[in-house]
Amino acid sequence: MSTTYDVINPATEKIVTTIEHYDLAATDATIAKAAKAFESWRNVAPADRAAHLRRFAAVVASHKEELAALEIANSGHTRGNALWEVDNVVNVLTYYSAAPERLFGKQIPVAGGVDITFKEPLGVVGVIVPWNFPMPIAGWGFAPALAAGNTVVLKPAEYTPLTAIKLGEYALEAGLPDGVFNVLPGKGSIVGNRFVTHPAVRKVVFTGSTEVGKAIMAGCADQVKRVTLELGGKSSNIIFADADIAKAAASAPGSVFDNAGQDCCARTRILVERSAFDTFMEHFEVAVKKFRVEDPSLASADMGPLISRKQFDAVQTFLDEPIAFTGSAPSGPGYWMAPTVLMPKNTQARSWREEVFGPVVSVMAFDDEAQGIAMANDSEYGLSGSIWTRDVGRALRVSRAIETGNLSVNSNSSVRYSTPFGGFKQSGLGRELGPDALDSFTEVKNVFISND
Ligand code: NAP
Ligand code: MG
Repeated sequence: MSTTYDVINPATEKIVTTIEHYDLAATDATIAKAAKAFESWRNVAPADRAAHLRRFAAVVASHKEELAALEIANSGHTRGNALWEVDNVVNVLTYYSAAPERLFGKQIPVAGGVDITFKEPLGVVGVIVPWNFPMPIAGWGFAPALAAGNTVVLKPAEYTPLTAIKLGEYALEAGLPDGVFNVLPGKGSIVGNRFVTHPAVRKVVFTGSTEVGKAIMAGCADQVKRVTLELGGKSSNIIFADADIAKAAASAPGSVFDNAGQDCCARTRILVERSAFDTFMEHFEVAVKKFRVEDPSLASADMGPLISRKQFDAVQTFLDEPIAFTGSAPSGPGYWMAPTVLMPKNTQARSWREEVFGPVVSVMAFDDEAQGIAMANDSEYGLSGSIWTRDVGRALRVSRAIETGNLSVNSNSSVRYSTPFGGFKQSGLGRELGPDALDSFTEVKNVFISND
């Protein structure tokens, strides 16, 4: 562990703490430890594995304030979000604690004997986490992986390692055997890449940019390594004239500016049916101006700073289209940016086509249902989206026509831990959360037992 890394508070630009990074040798040693721990963890009785996960959840819950404070300081998340994020880890662990005793196989009718299937754990699972939602995205990987009998090596993003390091400590405090859940802060090019190349790591769960995701998929091909990818998005918020326009407009800022827009589900395209366009924009301007960008530790904050100077600079490059209006943001130290509403000249604008990952949204009008659907689907991404209409038939037709993995009607919610989450097209591969996520952390084994 040769190098150190200064963790920066994005709201103040001050150093929060300095941590040690894992190098290649430390990564290999930890993977070996996880492989060894797998031999016994896979054989822990289902009810006991369930109890371990419930105890882990309880220890996390008992440190809710501490974890939330760390995420506020490390990531600039608002207090409201950070508390929700701790709860999400607790809920996901609790949800999957029911899984070990329900990991059912099948008994399939065959001639000459009995045929049964087993869901076998894979071995060591590598989880690579981005900086935008450090706690939830880690939990969506490690909770079902552990429940299915795998051991886990988890690499947090360089910017945001602090809550992951704590979760590793809490797993031990909860009594998980040493080596079952391992947190390895370090560089993507060293620790993350080793998950791809090390033969003892049998699966990689990656969330982050589409660019790195493609490289990971290509790398995993070498060992036919299992891979789940949660990548970028360019999601649409489609508002029909028959909708409750005031309600759609009031909730639109949260759907794109939450977490300072650093959300793969951010609705960065707003499509409004032309006859309702002006009314929508009037209400939307009021809502954006009310969106509070301030010290994220305040309970009243709706949005904090961006994660880094680099991200701030990247987001500024999208501001080359006409600006309709902006909200406000603090000045002084910190990576602050006001929520910004663009009216791009056409659908070729970068702000219309590319993932922004900052508090910038583009609004355009459409003329009818078919055009709205075509504009929303005109993207290489397909992660999320919203549809606002009072017409049930239209809600169903448009939901079926939009090429994305997660849609909300008359709501902007994206993620529930009990329902599947994942992307169409270049937004990803596979699904996380919900009842079927265990399938991504197990292999089906078929056994025939002869009557003879
Ligand atoms: P990224 O480079 O894809 O990083 C995501 C994770 O992968 C981090 O833990 C990173 O480690 C690791 N990583 C990087 N290169 C790797 C490699 N060669 N092998 C294995 N792991 C590797 O994303 P980013 O640079 O943080 O953000 C860039 C853009 O990606 C954002 O602006 C945004 O558009 C998008 N993004 C999307 C999501 C999402 O949820 N879909 C999340 C984050 C970012 P390091 O931290 O050490 O680089
Ligand atoms: Mg990167």
